Amino acid sequence: MAKKENRCSFCGRSEHEVNLLMPGRDGCICDMCAEQAYLITEEYLNKKKSGNKNDLGFTKQDLPRPADIKAFLDQYVIGQDAAKRYLSVSVYNHYKRLMQNFSQDDDVEIEKSNIIMVGPTGTGKTLLAKTIARLLKVPFTIVDATVLTEAGYVGEDIESILTRLLQVADYDVAAAERGIVFIDEIDKIARKSDNPSITRDVSGEGVQQGLLKLLEGSIVNVPPQGGRKHPEQKMIPVNTKNILYICGGAFDGIERKIAMRLNTHVVGYNRGNRHSVADRDNMLQYVAPQDLKAFGLIPEIIGRLPILTSLQPLDKESLRRILVEPKNSIIKQYIKLFDMDGVTLTFDDDVLDYVVEKAIEFKLGARGLRSIVETIMMDAMYEIPSSNKKKLTITQKYAAEKLEKANLLALH
Ligand code: ADP
Repeated sequence: MAKKENRCSFCGRSEHEVNLLMPGRDGCICDMCAEQAYLITEEYLNKKKSGNKNDLGFTKQDLPRPADIKAFLDQYVIGQDAAKRYLSVSVYNHYKRLMQNFSQDDDVEIEKSNIIMVGPTGTGKTLLAKTIARLLKVPFTIVDATVLTEAGYVGEDIESILTRLLQVADYDVAAAERGIVFIDEIDKIARKSDNPSITRDVSGEGVQQGLLKLLEGSIVNVPPQGGRKHPEQKMIPVNTKNILYICGGAFDGIERKIAMRLNTHVVGYNRGNRHSVADRDNMLQYVAPQDLKAFGLIPEIIGRLPILTSLQPLDKESLRRILVEPKNSIIKQYIKLFDMDGVTLTFDDDVLDYVVEKAIEFKLGARGLRSIVETIMMDAMYEIPSSNKKKLTITQKYAAEKLEKANLLALH
């Protein structure tokens, strides 16, 4: 009598039809069925692990609270407390809004609260946005408003803002529809004069009208590759209802508008007024929506950016703190770079003051700190790896020498 052929107890294939047939107590399993079983088990366990996680990929328990968000920002950005608080609350509320939408709980609809940050260049607007992006659980992108122009003109169409968001979301439209967009240099699309002109203002009002469409909840056709729209390109419809916008701009000269408004107010009340104590050196902290309008933003845009906050100019002390305190501060980065060559690098205290003074003298602000330190360190970075020095201390004299040498060279 022929020997009974072993078969897989799941698919019935014989041992000649499979690569491997594993015997069990009362049956066998083939390699293909074992693989299937593995995949099914894995899927089941993943589902179980994510518990009541929704499609958003996070639950309320996972969410960082505003104070956690601010504490995270504090590790990288010096000062700017007001802006940090506004940002933290706004991002937290954005998550809450998404969860409400997701659970279809339409009891009280939470409205989106887009933010606008006003502050001199180099005070940390972009840094705040970039830092917050590290912690976000939704797609995030930074776009520059200066490249935008009205449809039909040279430059990028407004919709290209959403192309970037789609790209970071790997073209997952649902994910992009709950993302966050940072629009930098929003002041560059302000109307150039306060009077609506009869001639078309390419970089001004038309662009703002276009932007309005994105800020309010609407379905926008987005060119998947960005740039200019062309007829053959297939558009991707994106609903902007849940996209959070954070705008930033220097609004050069807005202080004058603020001062003017505060003075006009004063005229009405003849008695001692509270604005007389205004901190004249830092008018930005009093910025109000009317000032944005006077600067050339249209009221509809201002209405769509209900949270207005300002960043303070950085004084000497803040600049000094920026050099050393942030988690990835410039000084820490250089110490690390040298450490990787086995060299202990230290900076004398007065070097830091010297760098800050030069940044102020050259009117470079925080942006200049890095280039100044870079110039000072360049020779050492070139020479030290091939020397056998184990220690390097940067003195003020050394720093001044290096910087002056670089300046002299730049003059020739
Ligand atoms: P902007 O306000 O023009 O967007 P950025 O955020 O791009 O300015 O700042 C330029 C650089 O200056 C940053 O990359 C960072 O190194 C430094 N910087 C500016 N402000 C701060 C700050 N408040 N804390 C720490 N670093 C800062």
